[in-house]
Amino acid sequence: MKSHELSSVTRRDFIVSAGLTAAAFGLAPSYLRGAPQTLVEKARQSGASAKITTQPLRGNVSALIGSGGNIGVLTGPDGKLIIDSGYAGSQKQIADALAGMGGDPIKHLINTHWHFDHTDGNEWMHSAGASIMAHENTKKHLSTTTRVDDWNFTFPAWPAGAIPTEVFATDKTLHLNGATIALKCYSPAHTDGDISIYFGEADVLHTGDTWWNGYFPFIDYSTGGSLDGMIKAAEANLAMVTDKTIVIPGHGPVANKTQVTEYLDLLRCIRDRIAALKKEGKSLNEIVAAKPTAAYDAKWGTGFVNGDFFTKLVHKGLG
Ligand SMILES: [Zn+2]
Repeated sequence: MKSHELSSVTRRDFIVSAGLTAAAFGLAPSYLRGAPQTLVEKARQSGASAKITTQPLRGNVSALIGSGGNIGVLTGPDGKLIIDSGYAGSQKQIADALAGMGGDPIKHLINTHWHFDHTDGNEWMHSAGASIMAHENTKKHLSTTTRVDDWNFTFPAWPAGAIPTEVFATDKTLHLNGATIALKCYSPAHTDGDISIYFGEADVLHTGDTWWNGYFPFIDYSTGGSLDGMIKAAEANLAMVTDKTIVIPGHGPVANKTQVTEYLDLLRCIRDRIAALKKEGKSLNEIVAAKPTAAYDAKWGTGFVNGDFFTKLVHKGLG
């Protein structure tokens, strides 16, 4: 295999593992629209072949990267605490990666929000011993039929074992494995049930999908997402970190304050550009044609949200 072929395969696998592929998305080029699988089905199927990378961060906190949203893990005598559960099809790889982090049993799972690429593994993790905590709106969406128009997919309720049993709607602090763990509720942002998890002693923040590092973010208006809320969440994330904080995004590589800042600047800039075009009286089609994201597309538009789709999401969020 020539090196450029290898790199293209690796890149494709990376995009799949980063969450959702552009090719499967409903707004993909017309020649792809006839594909038999939906974006969601294709993303789920990618879980079976996902390669999980364990990235030790600081103290007893690590990240598992490669199956849906980024997974955080805190180990210790109180049992492993896991943030988000990836695709169900990656059960074996994720279980192996967890076993490779020591013999503490799986005890606690926290969902950052309800999306399938963060919760499809809930059922097996619960069977393995985890109680499940989440925002009360996450439980609500997992407990009932939920339609996401932008994914052209209707999710049936999750199985009983996958439903969070401990829910909350205001900030909360846990003490486990010698760590102080702050659960912070955002106002509606990516969905209406987003939380962040901050490990105080290790100084590691998991932002869930309020931060996508290197990808335009999805905003799920079907379940209460908000453009202004996404910007407020990015501001809240920036306010929480120092130059030393390690930050785990929902998608994309683990990074720090520099990238959190860059992402907030991007959101504000694109929001302002599209708002200005709208104020000039331009239609949505004219605004998309004006390519307001062009300066960012090469770096940020390679995931399932490309520049045109992000333009539409921002336009919709302006109300
Ligand atoms: Zn999400």
